[in-house]
Amino acid sequence: MSPATPLENLAVGIDLGGTATRFVAVDSREQVRARRIVGTPRSGNPEQLRRFINQNVRTIAEGGQILSIGIGASGPIDADGVIQNPDTLPAFTGVDLLPGIEREFHHRPAIDNDAVTAALGEARFGAGRSNPNMLMVTLGTGIGVCLLQHGQPFRAADGSHPEAGHLSISGPDAPCYCGRSTCWEQVASRRALQDAASSLFDDARDSSEDIDRASQLASTGDSAAIEMFANYGRRLADGLSNLIAAYGANFVVIGGSGSNYLPSYGPALREHLLEIQDCFPIPIVGAQLGEDGGAIGAALLGRDATVAGH
Ligand SMILES: [Zn+2]
Repeated sequence: MSPATPLENLAVGIDLGGTATRFVAVDSREQVRARRIVGTPRSGNPEQLRRFINQNVRTIAEGGQILSIGIGASGPIDADGVIQNPDTLPAFTGVDLLPGIEREFHHRPAIDNDAVTAALGEARFGAGRSNPNMLMVTLGTGIGVCLLQHGQPFRAADGSHPEAGHLSISGPDAPCYCGRSTCWEQVASRRALQDAASSLFDDARDSSEDIDRASQLASTGDSAAIEMFANYGRRLADGLSNLIAAYGANFVVIGGSGSNYLPSYGPALREHLLEIQDCFPIPIVGAQLGEDGGAIGAALLGRDATVAGH
């Protein structure tokens, strides 16, 4: 293994999530040289938010030379590269972040939806390596969706990223801020799984610990826990079947923190898909890059944009 040279070119990737922000520095041999995770600010003026980004970028790239910066952010990004997600990223919403980062580092950052960056990371280094046509579904506070066609993300007509986690599905009312009365995101996100798991316990902790406990119970044959995961798998299949029908996807990668529980709900998910249409089964696999996947994909996004721009 060769030692890092003082001026090694580094692609910095930032995964701006509702709870935590992950920073990675990827070197020219496509190795992650440094990683850092910090809490995402919930408040602050634009200058404080730029400083939050800039200080962490400087720290992560210490000892190297920044080649590019890429950002993956939860929720919609408008055509000017401004985050518009008041529910998950209230402090950053409406803030013109990029010029302040560009002034500091002399690189225009690339920014995209975090499902796009997660998909780019998995396609290049993870579960999608052998399949450049893949549907990525990230299960977190919400649901992120990205279809890659020949390695490129599918775009809406205006170039934006379609928010395909918001779909009308069958079942009891599950109203969503998007306006749908029964929205997939409300019943199939990791957050929804957590709420269902918490309802099993009198001493619920209202955290992912409840899903871990439910998973443990299910593995010992507890019928309530087994049924909870089966219901969740069916809800997940409802929306996924719509995406598969619309996109013609033939390979699905499940990412986000909800992918950790794929062994518990995967059987019901696959079984329900088989009931919906006979063109299945298609491979449904878990993401391989873990929690760093979005940040690694963001680094690739930034690097590709920089290379394309020169
Ligand atoms: Zn919705």
